[in-house]
Amino acid sequence: NRRFVLASRPKGAPVAENFRLEETDLPKPADGQLLLRTVYLSLDPYMRGRMSDAPSYAPPVALGDVMVGGAVSRVVESKDAHFKPGDWVVAGSGWQDYAVVDAKLARKLEGDALKHPSLALGVLGMPGFTAYMGLLDIGEPKAGETVVVAAATGPVGSLVGQIAKLKGCKVVGIAGGEEKCRYAVEHFGFDECLDHRAANLGQRLKEACPRGIDVYFENVGGAVFDAVLPLLNTKARVPLCGVVSQYNAQELPKGEDRLTLLTTAILKKRLRIQGFIIFDDYGHRYPEFAKQMSEWFAADKIKFREHIVQGLENAPASLNDVLEGKNFGKLVIQVGKE
Ligand code: NDP
Repeated sequence: NRRFVLASRPKGAPVAENFRLEETDLPKPADGQLLLRTVYLSLDPYMRGRMSDAPSYAPPVALGDVMVGGAVSRVVESKDAHFKPGDWVVAGSGWQDYAVVDAKLARKLEGDALKHPSLALGVLGMPGFTAYMGLLDIGEPKAGETVVVAAATGPVGSLVGQIAKLKGCKVVGIAGGEEKCRYAVEHFGFDECLDHRAANLGQRLKEACPRGIDVYFENVGGAVFDAVLPLLNTKARVPLCGVVSQYNAQELPKGEDRLTLLTTAILKKRLRIQGFIIFDDYGHRYPEFAKQMSEWFAADKIKFREHIVQGLENAPASLNDVLEGKNFGKLVIQVGKE
C-alpha cells in the first residue's frame, strides 16, 4: 500500500519535499468499516489550505498524516451490511492505494453513476454541488441577468456557467488562455469567455457585459476580482466560493490600501458578498442537488471535461498544476484499474 503523507508545510507553492511516499501493510477494517481500493483520486484547490496550519474552517493535515482527498474506490472487504466487495463508493480515502473508512461516511454509487464513476468527483459530486448551491442559493440568478465566472473550464466554473444558461442568463466566463476560452464557448455553451492572461481584462469585460454584472461567482480573486468590481450592478450578488489565485500567497499583496474601494462599492451598490463552505453550509441539501443534477445529466443538458493523470506518484505535481491553471478540466488521478 503506497500513501503520500505530509512531510513538511509549504512556504508558497508546494514542493516535492513537502510530501513523503510511504509503503505500509494493508490496513484492516473493524466492525462498521470498509477496506477500499482507490481507483480515482480527486485533486482540488482546497488541499493547499489543508497543508498549511493557518487558522481555517477545517483543521490542517498533521505532519506525518496521509494527505486528505476524496476518491472513488472499490470495496475490497466490508464489515457493514450495506456494502459488499466490488461495490463502487465515494469516500474520503486520501492519497493512498488502500484506505479503511467508516461505512457511514461512504456513499455507494448506483444506477447511472456507474456509467462514468469518476464524475462522482466532478460535476456529479462535490464541485458540482458547490456550483449548484453557490450559484442558485447565493447568486439567485434571474433570466436575462449577466453572470460572470472565472476558472470557467474547471468543474465548478463550467457548471456555474451551464446552470446559469439553463436559468436564461447571459454568461461570460474568464479562463487562462485562448484554448480554454474557445472551449468554454463551444463545448460548455458560454456566451463569451475572456483570457485573463491577455492585456486589458477590465476593458474587455466591460465590452462583454454592456449591462453590467448581476452575479459574479468568485473562484479566483486577485486581478480578476479587480476587473469585476467596477462592473458590478446595484444589488449584485457575489457567491464567494474560492480565491485560488491567493492560495500560495504568504502575505497580503503590497501596495496602497484599496480596502476602502471595496467597502465603498459594497455600500453604494448594496452588494451582497457571501462566502460559503459547501458541506458545512449545505450538506443537508445534497439530495436536492443529486436529484436535479442527475435529471439534467440524463437529459444531456450538462457537459463536462476531465483531466486524468495516471499514477498516484504524480499527485504532488498535479496539485500544483491545479493551483497554477495547468489543468484543463477536472483533475483526477487514476490510482488503480477499474
Ligand atoms: P479548477 O479545476 O477550476 O482549478 C483551479 C483553476 O483556477 C485553474 O485551473 C485556473 O484556471 C484558475 N486559476 C489559478 N490561478 C489563477 C489566477 N492567478 N488567476 C485566475 N485564475 C486562476 O478548480 P475547481 O473548479 O475545483 O475549484 C474552483 C474554485 O472553487 C477554487 O477556488 C476552489 O477553492 C473553490 N471551491 C470552493 C468550495 C467551497 O466549499 N467554498 C468547494 C469546492 C471548490 P484558468 O487556467 O482558467 O485560469
